[in-house]
Amino acid sequence: MIKHFFTLAAIGLISFSSFAQSNGCQITIKDDQQAIEQKTKDKLSAAFYNVYPWFASADGYRTKRSADLIFNSNETTDIKAKAGEIIVNGDWVKGKSQKKIEKQLRNAFTKNWSGFSIQKKKGYKLTFISKDPLLDPLLKQKLIDTYFEIYPTLVKTFNNKSTHNVLFVVDTAYKAVAEASGNRILFSAGYLNAHPTDIDVVTHETMHIVQGYGYSAGPVWLTEGIADYVRYQYGVDNVGSKWSLPAYNAKQSYQNSYRITARFFAWLEQNIKPGLVATLDQQLRAHQYTEQSWNSLTGKSIDQLWEEYSKNPGQVKLKYSSKAEKG
Ligand SMILES: [Zn+2]
Repeated sequence: MIKHFFTLAAIGLISFSSFAQSNGCQITIKDDQQAIEQKTKDKLSAAFYNVYPWFASADGYRTKRSADLIFNSNETTDIKAKAGEIIVNGDWVKGKSQKKIEKQLRNAFTKNWSGFSIQKKKGYKLTFISKDPLLDPLLKQKLIDTYFEIYPTLVKTFNNKSTHNVLFVVDTAYKAVAEASGNRILFSAGYLNAHPTDIDVVTHETMHIVQGYGYSAGPVWLTEGIADYVRYQYGVDNVGSKWSLPAYNAKQSYQNSYRITARFFAWLEQNIKPGLVATLDQQLRAHQYTEQSWNSLTGKSIDQLWEEYSKNPGQVKLKYSSKAEKG
């Protein structure tokens, strides 16, 4: 799956045009006793706009885009923060540097998550946020390992301009499987816990980051078919998760998307044109893809290609990756 992040962000900018730098985030400072000087409020506002968009996008699912900032000298020694509400000790904040306030605010927000870690390897970075206190640490490690194993390969193979900085968020409130938007992948905690072997969800979703064109550049079935073809081709353990491409039947169409389209792509790669999927992916990213692309790349229309496939769908050797085989 993939999500129209940029569209949502654009709507946010229109509705809060006076806060254009804030990605739709907005702060309301509540200082009824007028005990805090303007300079301090300005520092807090600036810290908010530097930190909150990061927090809100990482916190993900339906997190409030606006927050109240409340001064309270009794309740907390420095800063407490959650979605929509920041409580600041006015005595602590006086005279503190912008940098110090920002750091403290960031720390306060990370305490909302059950897990927060940042790892770097060979020029690639992964920030991992878990909002599920029951997430199996072993499963978490597998997701992280799969990222570092597969993502650099996908970047090098398909789009070396892709970000090297990715964010994984495991969320209990998110009920689908997983989705990518911008550099963030949102995973459903419920799905992961029920399907702990399905670690190549990482391969499918990180391919969406590499694709980078969302659903705007071509048909949805093509974008999703490419992501599942890539999972088939580059996945680390499709055998372990019992994931395979479904056999052809006459009711199918290339527009069925996902694994049905992916099997067609495997057939096309072996019988018509090796490298076709990577070329289509490039065209989509360059906004050069049209239905004519099939003709110019293969000499046949997409419907003609599907018809050929339907006549001889068994003429493809499928091989699935397995961790167990590698030992
Ligand atoms: Zn997808």
